[in-house]
Amino acid sequence: MSTLLEVTDAHVSYGKVEAVRSVSLTVAENEIVTIIGANGAGKTTLLSAIMGVFPLKGRVSFLGEDLARYEIEDRVARGLCLVPEHRELFASMNVEDNLQLGAFRMSKAHAARGFEHVYTLFPKLKERRKQLAGTLSGGEQQMLAMGRALMGAPKMLMLDEPSLGLAPIIVAGIFEIVAKLREEGVSVLLVEQNAQAALKVADRAYVMELGEFVLNGKASEIATDQRVAASYLGFAEAAAS
Ligand code: ATP
Repeated sequence: MSTLLEVTDAHVSYGKVEAVRSVSLTVAENEIVTIIGANGAGKTTLLSAIMGVFPLKGRVSFLGEDLARYEIEDRVARGLCLVPEHRELFASMNVEDNLQLGAFRMSKAHAARGFEHVYTLFPKLKERRKQLAGTLSGGEQQMLAMGRALMGAPKMLMLDEPSLGLAPIIVAGIFEIVAKLREEGVSVLLVEQNAQAALKVADRAYVMELGEFVLNGKASEIATDQRVAASYLGFAEAAAS
C-alpha cells in the first residue's frame, strides 16, 4: 500500500498555546486510520491544520507532494477533503443545493456522476433532495455533510466526529458507509471520541492526549490495550484486572 498522506513533526499553536505537538502520522491508500482521544486533546486542531485552515509547523505531504504552498481549495482539488465536526451545512438551502456546492468548479457531467454516487450511497438524501438541510435529522445532516465532500470525488476524506450527537443505530450506519468508502478506494482519516466504534472500523489508530500521540498501532491491538480500555472504552475494570 502506498502512502497517501504523510504528516511529519507537526506543531499547531493558538498564540502561545501549542495545541498539537510533534505529531507524525501516515495514511496509506485504501486505509482507514482513526485518531482517538478525549475532549480537547487536539484532534480537531490537527485535522483543520492538515486541511490548511490553521498554519502548521512541520510537513504535510499528500501523494508525495508538500502541501505547504497550497490553499484549502487547491488541497481539495488534489483529492483531500474535510467533513467538519459541526457539519457546516447551509440550513436554509435544500439537500440538492448543498450537494451542488460540493461540485463547485466541476463540469456538469462530473457533477452528475457525483450526484449519482452520493444518492447510491445515501438513498435517504435522494428521497429528501428538495428538503431544507436545517430540517433534516442529525443522521441525515451527517450524511449530507459526507455527501457534499464526496461530490468532489476525493481520494481521502477526513471525518471529524461523525458520530457526534447521533443515536447508536445511526452511528452504525455511518460507520458502514466509512467501510464502504474504503472498498471504493477512498482512504479515511477518522477523528472520534466514540473510540469503540472507531476502532471497530479502522485498520490503524493513534491515541492523542494533550496535543501529542501517546500510542499507535493496529486498531485491533489498540482496542485491547489496557490503558485505552480504561481511558476511552469505559472498561475501567478491564485495566484493574
Ligand atoms: P473536541 O473533541 O472537543 O473537539 P479536540 O481533541 O478536537 O476536542 P481541539 O478542539 O483541537 O481538541 O482543542 C485542542 C486544544 O486547543 C484545547 O485545549 C482547546 O481549548 C484549544 N483550542 C481549540 N480551538 C481554539 C481556538 N480557536 N483558540 C484557542 N484555543 C483553542
